[in-house]
Amino acid sequence: MKDCLFCRIEKKEIPSRTVFEDDRSIAFEDISPQAPVHILIIPRKHIPSMAEISTDDIPLLGHLLSTASRIARERNLAVEGYRLAINTGPAAGQAVHHLHVHLLGGRQMQWPPG
Ligand code: AMP
Ligand code: ZN
Repeated sequence: MKDCLFCRIEKKEIPSRTVFEDDRSIAFEDISPQAPVHILIIPRKHIPSMAEISTDDIPLLGHLLSTASRIARERNLAVEGYRLAINTGPAAGQAVHHLHVHLLGGRQMQWPPG
């Protein structure tokens, strides 16, 4: 989508610190990290949020979560733990309307997240 920040990152029109990519997804460092590890995993396909997924997207969503799990394992976060978050809509403070999974780790997380 033309004016979508993450579509532009996906197309390499805007630079990012990419840590992984394949045919369906791309993962890059968050520009404003909230933890020692803060990576965003996004689908190449433009899906605005979890509120707009279709049943056709189920395999893609599984792929995004499995990619997040693999990156966490590679960063040695699997034992100490980490958080995956998908902010959806205004109440969750979603700022970029291209579905993304936050991978946060390297510090103790609080619950409830606020
Ligand atoms: P959310 O509030 O879930 O929509 O999160 C959007 C995230 O995108 C925030 O954590 C931002 O720091 C991050 N972000 C915004 N612009 C960029 C960018 N150009 N490169 C990497 N991350 C970004
Ligand atoms: Zn997009």
